[in-house]
Amino acid sequence: MRILCYFFAIVLSISLVPSSAHFFPNISSLPPLLRNITAAAGPWDAFKKLVDCNPGDKIDGLGKLKKYFQYFGYIPNAPSNITDDFDDLLESAIKTYQQNFNLNVTGKLDEQTMNHVTMPRCGNPDIVNGTSTMNSGKTTPSNTTSSHLHTVSHYTFFPGMPRWPVSKSELTYAFLPGNQLEADVKSVFTRAFERWSEVTTLTFTETSSYSRADIKIGFYSGDHGDGEPFDGVLGTLAHAFSPPNGWFHLDGDENWVISGDLAVSAVDLESVAVHEIGHVLGLGHSSVEEAIMYPTISSGTRKLELASDDIAGIQQLYGRNPNYNGSAATPSTEQRDTNGAYVEGSMWGLIVLMTVGFVFLFL
Ligand SMILES: [Zn+2]
Ligand SMILES: [Zn+2]
Repeated sequence: MRILCYFFAIVLSISLVPSSAHFFPNISSLPPLLRNITAAAGPWDAFKKLVDCNPGDKIDGLGKLKKYFQYFGYIPNAPSNITDDFDDLLESAIKTYQQNFNLNVTGKLDEQTMNHVTMPRCGNPDIVNGTSTMNSGKTTPSNTTSSHLHTVSHYTFFPGMPRWPVSKSELTYAFLPGNQLEADVKSVFTRAFERWSEVTTLTFTETSSYSRADIKIGFYSGDHGDGEPFDGVLGTLAHAFSPPNGWFHLDGDENWVISGDLAVSAVDLESVAVHEIGHVLGLGHSSVEEAIMYPTISSGTRKLELASDDIAGIQQLYGRNPNYNGSAATPSTEQRDTNGAYVEGSMWGLIVLMTVGFVFLFL
């Protein structure tokens, strides 16, 4: 009985605060207010007032920007106070960010950089423990022209290169029952999985058993118990954990569009799904702008095709689908750092959940 209670406690703890999520079959189904706006405000829009701040400045809001850079790994998680000072820590974070996203490496909060910082993006960090496998961690020259050298592969893995075991090539996925998704929403995920199974020997099958599925897909709002709270409309859109965890979470507060044209305030569900499945399978972020694994996506755009960089990365992990006729990018001859950079959403979130389970056990 006690074991049964424990089991339910765990299930309960990972099923907290499911979101009812906002889905729109197409743009014309968006409310007029959302359809007609030309610039959607996200949680990071306030950063735009910091454009052209200079080193040495102390300006209200710089502390929040530092927290943003800390969240995505650009400032170490040191216990030091986060202040509103434009210090060396911030300048260094800006330079690394600019390298990773192929921007001019100025160390300044120029307009180009701030326009990029405020874009909606995946909630997974780009850097872990100060080591980046995106551009800034490469040995190739990191000036502004390097982004145009497409001969170098930029795909990355989680530290330790985790993957689903060989015995698990037939993966199952399920949707959080509390979300009560319609068939047209589920079919978006089916199509997204197909993009990855087309190029590898992996297969993906939906199962009705959420607790037993390898990949658990859920829409959540705000803090949902894994230490990586969502932030409302735009900002972070989704996140996913490294194999063999299988957690794949989406922000239930976004205006998710299922097909057709897009509005500036809405996010294309399939584009985000394809990206997050890359994480579920073991890929980290790429500096190649065309790659699905690039961390940002403009609202109102659709990006579904795996780029050669994505294909090369996933085939390095799982091999090639013999029926796949396309070609992957030639892997770079440079030394790849597979241990450095990128840890998925926090494992301490898992520890918190386990703790909750134990608390229930002793109640
Ligand atoms: Zn991501
Ligand atoms: Zn989550």
